[in-house]
Amino acid sequence: MERDQPFLHMNGGKGEMSYANNSSIQRQMMLKAKFILEETITRLYRDSSPTCMKVADLGCSVGSNTLLVISNIINIVHTTCTLLNRDPPTFQFYLNDLFGNDFNTTIKLLPDFYTKLLQYKEHDSCFINVTPGSFYGRLFPSNSINLFHSSNGLHWLSQDPLLGCKDVASLNKGHCHIVSTSPPEVHKTYLKQYQQDFKLFLKSRSEELVPGGAMVLMHLGYHETPRRTSWEIVSLILNDMLLEGLIEEAKLEWFNIPVYEPTVEEVKNVIEEEESVFLERLEVVISGWDEGLNIEGGDGENVRAEIISKHARAALEPLLSEKFDAEVINEVFVRFQNKILQIMKVGKLESATFIMSITKKA
Ligand code: SAH
Repeated sequence: MERDQPFLHMNGGKGEMSYANNSSIQRQMMLKAKFILEETITRLYRDSSPTCMKVADLGCSVGSNTLLVISNIINIVHTTCTLLNRDPPTFQFYLNDLFGNDFNTTIKLLPDFYTKLLQYKEHDSCFINVTPGSFYGRLFPSNSINLFHSSNGLHWLSQDPLLGCKDVASLNKGHCHIVSTSPPEVHKTYLKQYQQDFKLFLKSRSEELVPGGAMVLMHLGYHETPRRTSWEIVSLILNDMLLEGLIEEAKLEWFNIPVYEPTVEEVKNVIEEEESVFLERLEVVISGWDEGLNIEGGDGENVRAEIISKHARAALEPLLSEKFDAEVINEVFVRFQNKILQIMKVGKLESATFIMSITKKA
């Protein structure tokens, strides 16, 4: 298994195209998942009362989203402890992402974060650590973590699924993801990689959780009517550019976006196979791509399309730069924005997010 994916990370820093500045849509999704976090923490406290609560945010990326996860968890635990008349624990948080992630930008936000925490809670009750590495494998000692959180990361696969399958890759020539014309073999190969990865993820987390420990996971999934994904749109754009002679065929040959959006059944099947864990709840939340972007007025649609395009760019640029130069990437996202605008004029752009609460059997 690939332990390091050097090209997989979101745009670092705090610039115009950074993930830190282009992740408000993901933030909205995290807020929508808060009720499952509350329910999971209540359940965790019903069965145990750790003096030091160890929590890891897996795939934390860059910027303040992960800090929102931390403050949400601290607040929920404090409320739960008050209700149960127990002393609140000390917290140890681990921020995890791949080695190429720009952890430094997030670390620089910590002094302010600690100061704010101090205003209403004791600062020396919260310690934040960084744990780089792939979540498709072990990251922590056995029986050491109380709660795992992961948002918007688990649809990323551990590697390009078509890399070792020359025959299947040639069936999808000119494309870098599953599109409507892709033969079933391409879909099957992506699914196989997802199953292998998610299985390893669950096994690793189950070993690391204390008995009765829990995970709250949230990622993109496939639900009901056929719909579009950013990955498909980028693939169609690159295919157009190939036909127009703007990129070379060879560049697309060994390039596939390593993302898979599973169905509810596919997710459940993998969870059921890992006998040490139990799926407490799985909710599907459908939301618009422009959810929470309250920009009205004459130019509202354009601005929303631009924001959506920047969000996609913040997530995909490092991966695309592996193969394509800056000029091509600029053109991809000009076209992406136009495509979004076109789709918004005739219909809805929606995606499904799966939110799950899973416990390790005692
Ligand atoms: N949780 C944040 C960031 C989501 S972006 C939020 O909701 O806003 C997805 C993140 O998952 C990226 O930073 C990416 O680098 C990370 N990621 C993808 N595959 C990973 C892996 N195998 N191990 C650890 N992190 C991974």
